[in-house]
Amino acid sequence: MAKQVPGRVTMEKLTSLCQRRGFIFPSSDIYGGLSSCWDYGPVGVELKRNIKEVWWRNNVQERDDMVGLDTSILMHPRVWEASEHLAQFSDPLVECKNCHLRWRADELKGDRCPSCNGELTEPHQFNLMFKTFMGPMEEAANVVYLRPETAQGIFVNFENVVNTSRKRLPFGIAQIGKSFRNEITTGNFVFRSREFEQMEIEFFVKPGTDDKWFDYWLEERFNWYVKLSIKKENLRLREHAEEELAHYAHKCYDIDYNFPMGWSELEGIANRGDFDLKQHMTYSGKSLTYLDEESKEHIIPYIIEPSAGVDRSVLAVLCDAYEEEPDKDEIRVLFHFHPDLAPIKVAVLPLSRKENLAALAKDVYADLRPCWMVQYDDTQSIGRRYRRQDELGTPFCVTIDFQSLEDNMVTIRERDTMNQIRLPIAALRDTLQAKLAGEDLFVLPEGGQIWKEEKHA
Ligand code: ATP
Repeated sequence: MAKQVPGRVTMEKLTSLCQRRGFIFPSSDIYGGLSSCWDYGPVGVELKRNIKEVWWRNNVQERDDMVGLDTSILMHPRVWEASEHLAQFSDPLVECKNCHLRWRADELKGDRCPSCNGELTEPHQFNLMFKTFMGPMEEAANVVYLRPETAQGIFVNFENVVNTSRKRLPFGIAQIGKSFRNEITTGNFVFRSREFEQMEIEFFVKPGTDDKWFDYWLEERFNWYVKLSIKKENLRLREHAEEELAHYAHKCYDIDYNFPMGWSELEGIANRGDFDLKQHMTYSGKSLTYLDEESKEHIIPYIIEPSAGVDRSVLAVLCDAYEEEPDKDEIRVLFHFHPDLAPIKVAVLPLSRKENLAALAKDVYADLRPCWMVQYDDTQSIGRRYRRQDELGTPFCVTIDFQSLEDNMVTIRERDTMNQIRLPIAALRDTLQAKLAGEDLFVLPEGGQIWKEEKHA
C-alpha cells in the first residue's frame, strides 16, 4: 500500500469522521437527511454537553455576579414586535431565474447565479423567523414564532430576576438553549444550521460603565476559548464597521475562528445600550427600571451581550483538535481535546477476553465509571483499539494484561505523548484524576514504570 501523508483538517474529512465515529449525523438520515439540521451521536452529545457544562461552570457557577435562566422557546408575539425582529430580522433574498436556487444577495460576489451563472431576481426581504400556530386553529391571531435568539427570554425576565435573586448591578443572566432561524443559505456542516443552540449572557451595567465592561467581556470570552486549548493563532477579534452594526448595537466585535472555509464568526459581543429594556417597557407597559441605591434614582441599565453558538464551538473544537500524524506507512488520526471537553475520558482495554482477565477489567471499569464517561472495549487488536480511541480523542487508555493478574498493575497509555505508565490498580483512579486535571507534577507510584508506545505497523 502507498505511504499515506498526513494533511490538514478539511470539512470533508471532519464530516466523514464525525459520521463514522458517532459525533454528528445528518438529521433524519434514513430519509435522506433534512437540509441543515444535524443530530449529535453518542460521542458528539458528550462533547457538546461538556462544552455547555464548562461554559456554565465558568460563567455561572464560579461567578458571584451571574445567575442562570431557562426560558421557553415560544414567547408572546409582542416580544418580537418590541425586539424589532418582526420588522428587521430579515436577509435580502434573490432567486436564479434559470435554476431557481436562492441566495443571500449581500453574500454574492457578482450579480449572476453562482451555480449556473443565470440571471437573478430583484432582492426582497425574507424574515428569518419560523412561524407556527398555538392551539388548534391555524389563523393569524394564533401565530407564534420559534425564538431566533435566547436573549429575549432574558430581557423579559429582568424584573423577575432582580426581585428574586438579590443581585445588584453590575450582574448578568446566562442562558443556554435552542434557537431557530430559517437561514437562506446554510452549509459548512454545523456552522450554519436552521436549528442550533446558543450560550448567551446579558450583562446589566450602569450607563457610563458600559465601555469598561465591554472590554472586560471581550477579553474574558477570547481567553475562554484559549483556555479550552483552541490555538490563539486560530482566533481573532473583528470589530463591526458602522454600517454593519445591528440597529440596537452601539458597538460590536466578533470572535472569529479560522475554520477550514476561512475566518468566520464564533461568538458576537455587543454593547446593546438600553435598547432592549426600553423597548419592552414601551410594548409591555411595565416598568423595567432599576433603583440605583447610591443615587436613589431609577435607571435603565445598559447591556453587554456575549453571544456564543454551541454548535460553532463544537465545530471549532473539532477543527482545532484534529491532527494527522505519521505512523510508519499509515497515519494516526487523533483529536487533542482538552481533558474537560473529551467525550470519553478513559477507555478500559483488556488484552484478551479470557474470563479471569475480563473479570479484573470489569472491576477496574466499575471503579472508574462513577467518576467519568469511560468506555470498555475488548474487540480487535490493542493497536486498533488505541487508534479508535485516538479518533474519539480519549486522553487515556487503561490496558489490563495477564501480568495484571499477578501483580495488580495496569498500564495507562496517553493519547498525546503515547507514553505508557505501569502502576498499581490501587493508584489508578487518583492518577487519572490528577492527569485529567492537567497536573504535570505527576508522582509515579511505588513500583510504577514509564515508557513510550511503539508505533504499530
Ligand atoms: P452570522 O453573521 O454568521 O449569521 P449572526 O451575527 O447573525 O451570525 P448572532 O445573531 O450574533 O449571529 O448570534 C450569536 C451566535 O449564535 C453566533 O456567533 C453563532 O455562534 C450562533 N449562530 C447564529 N446563527 C447560527 C446558525 N444559523 N447556525 C449555528 N449557529 C448560529
